[in-house]
Amino acid sequence: MIVMKFGGSSVAGAEKISRVAAIVKGRLKEKPVLVVSAFRGVTDDLLALGPEALKDDLSRITAIKKRHQDAAKELGVDFAPLEPLFVELRELARGVELLRELTPRTIDRLASFGERLSARLIAAAFVKAGIPALAVDAFDAGLLVDGRFGGANPLPEADAAIAKAFASFKELPVVTGFIGRTPSGEIATLGRNGSDYTATILGAALGAKEIQIWSDTDGIMTADPRIVPSAQPLSTLSFDEACELAYYGGKVLHPHTLVPAMRKDIPVRVLNTFKPEHPGTSIIAKPPKGQGGTILKSIAFKRRQSIVSASSPKMLSGHGFLARIFATLARHELDVDMVSTSEVSVSATTSGGPGLQAALTELNQEFETSMETGKAVVCAVGDGIQAARGVAADVFAAVSGAGVNVRMISQGASKNNIAFVVDDAEVEKTVGALHARFFK
Ligand code: ASP
Ligand code: MG
Repeated sequence: MIVMKFGGSSVAGAEKISRVAAIVKGRLKEKPVLVVSAFRGVTDDLLALGPEALKDDLSRITAIKKRHQDAAKELGVDFAPLEPLFVELRELARGVELLRELTPRTIDRLASFGERLSARLIAAAFVKAGIPALAVDAFDAGLLVDGRFGGANPLPEADAAIAKAFASFKELPVVTGFIGRTPSGEIATLGRNGSDYTATILGAALGAKEIQIWSDTDGIMTADPRIVPSAQPLSTLSFDEACELAYYGGKVLHPHTLVPAMRKDIPVRVLNTFKPEHPGTSIIAKPPKGQGGTILKSIAFKRRQSIVSASSPKMLSGHGFLARIFATLARHELDVDMVSTSEVSVSATTSGGPGLQAALTELNQEFETSMETGKAVVCAVGDGIQAARGVAADVFAAVSGAGVNVRMISQGASKNNIAFVVDDAEVEKTVGALHARFFK
């Protein structure tokens, strides 16, 4: 069997859903399990609804309902089976309004409606197109997760529970992406863009031959085509390379997506719904070497980064400083990406968060601290970079040739990347120059 995941942009509108139905029809022999996202923008709407409900405004529910009613009409399917979900959504939002409380658990429950609605409409559209299909809520089909609302991960017992649930489905399952169930029965989301992760969790549990992520690009590109118009799709990537790109904001995949696929060594293929004949990018354990003649595969970047620096002359021959600095950052829930240290000082990049100021104040008690904002991490990815001679020289020659100053560098921690920090305003210039150097 195969898993086919269709994202929000692939299922926004009746015409697109018919397109998806045609793609799936051509692959029925491979016994697909479908995973779908909410219609584009619906998760954002549901997340906006929570804070609005705190202020007695439930009007967004009407807009969300209208959108799905219109979709049902356009698809020519019955809207009635969706009514109970809108009753439930309204009750939940009303609860937020009355209790004046919006917990992470409630936020996740609110967000869950997007996929629950889209899966039902898509399954109904498939049935209408002659494909026997069944909408499946992943949380009723074994997707057991821990209780980390907003970023849950599957529990070890999920594999067996999923295999058991899916064994009984006769029709093609159209499964909600993004959501699972905690052991105590609460709905929890896997984090934004989590439907990819659902696809690989199911693929691993069901022993899929391939996990397909259908999106709106020809696969994973050598760089973001909005910044580098000459960017090219890659035919293959290794799991490690693709993970690195996902972490660095290569927006195509949710960062945890590849973990279940790697565990079972199942290929993940990124495909284009709007160009189904294009082979896309296949992500496998050991891709053939020498693709495109360069060791670099792709250039990613993460904007809006800050650098937190801490220094103290006492660090010279002292001990425990790094532990205290990172413990402070961790306590304030700051996600650190890149670190560079010298004998007496440390710089770390972070996307920031509500705890940033408090962390700085705390660090200030022991260290001389500073913060720089408006930075970006640029990251060149390719297996074997660490062992190859001259790659760093080429990378930095290209960057300096573009007249860009490098603020921090990290190489060697990961086998397959060189990462460095520049001013956010210079990302376009930097990525453009690197791409030109390595990919022509
Ligand atoms: N609908 C969810 C989101 O927008 C999950 C997904 O699309 O993968 O984050
Ligand atoms: Mg996505």
